[in-house]
Amino acid sequence: MSYSLSPAADQQLTKLLEEVKQNTALFLGYPVSKDFDYEELMPFLKYPMNNLGDPFVPSTYAVGSRELEKEVVKFFADLFRAQPDDWWGYVTNGGSEGNLYGLYLARELHPKGMVYYSEATHYSVQKNLHLLNMNNIAISTQTNGEIDYEDLENTIRMNRQMPVIIMANIGTTMTEARDDVAKIKIILKKLAIKHYYIHADGALSGCYSALIEPRPAFDFQDGADSIAISGHKFLGSPMPCGIVVVKKSNRDRIARSVAYIGSMDTTISGSRNGHSPLFLWYTLKKLGIEGLKKRALHCLAIAQYAEEQLKELGVEAWRNPNAITVNFPEPSKVIRQKWQLAAEGGWSHIICMPNVSKQQIDELILEIKLSLYAHQFAADII
Ligand SMILES: *Cc1c(COP(=O)(O)O)cnc(C)c1O
Repeated sequence: MSYSLSPAADQQLTKLLEEVKQNTALFLGYPVSKDFDYEELMPFLKYPMNNLGDPFVPSTYAVGSRELEKEVVKFFADLFRAQPDDWWGYVTNGGSEGNLYGLYLARELHPKGMVYYSEATHYSVQKNLHLLNMNNIAISTQTNGEIDYEDLENTIRMNRQMPVIIMANIGTTMTEARDDVAKIKIILKKLAIKHYYIHADGALSGCYSALIEPRPAFDFQDGADSIAISGHKFLGSPMPCGIVVVKKSNRDRIARSVAYIGSMDTTISGSRNGHSPLFLWYTLKKLGIEGLKKRALHCLAIAQYAEEQLKELGVEAWRNPNAITVNFPEPSKVIRQKWQLAAEGGWSHIICMPNVSKQQIDELILEIKLSLYAHQFAADII
């Protein structure tokens, strides 16, 4: 059957497309890459692709991209130095789902565990802890947004009869601070904690953290039991997506076979987006490790440039080591709205995703400069 849109609906579509285009061109404040070209994949949008159930177990429903999904998961298992025979994972709807999955596994392994996470942890984690009904304690942060290891140690000591579940941030949402998994392991050892689980929230910078020197301590070899990243942030994708990698031995403990789908019910959703693994696979194939590394170095160079330019204006800008997020005092509302800059507690940031150019930074800097002058001028008259 075929139907066509009414002129009014058609107009709405045109208007939305225009809006999306314009708003995409400007934003600098959210960690989403927009430099992708997936034209070649458009024919796949004609098909109902669905990677129902576990990607590693074939399903009776055969219209999907499971083979590519497995390659995507393997790519990240290798990048995050998982044991060659002890990894599993899937392409999620985003970093939040990957974090939910990590916590879910942790709870199944340690039902009486206590979850520790820093105050700078992504807002979705608290909701997920609530959904999972897990005991949890927030730990204070240092001024750069990294977890306060002393507070962590003292708090664990007070609850040391309980298994420890750590939600480590590999790039916090506001300042891109990384909690050091190696330091956390030292604390656990010092307190002789036998039962623990460490999940790394690498939604923002997990992907490129593995590509930079010195390599931050966050992956399986450093002591993580699971790692979640977002696919639409550093890699770039038209729809939100992510990847979660866990230890296969842990995932086996929750696996349950379901006759209806002919697969295992090991994922959070039943039906899963069959297109997003395809987009991720395409990016990974096109860029390869070298391309990704170049992308990361480009981001870091632009971030350094932005930091320097802001400082030159007398703005108190700063960055965590090897971070692409540049923090500075909240600029005027007009500027924040135009460039879609998030703000919290008087601070704002720009996130130098791969598509951000020097030219855009210059434009923003000029606007900040003008607003500072206008402010100064107004102060002078008064
Ligand atoms: C973006 C982000 C998340 C959430 O990921 P989504 O892909 O938006 O679901 C979680 N943690 C951090 C640190 C993030 O930056």
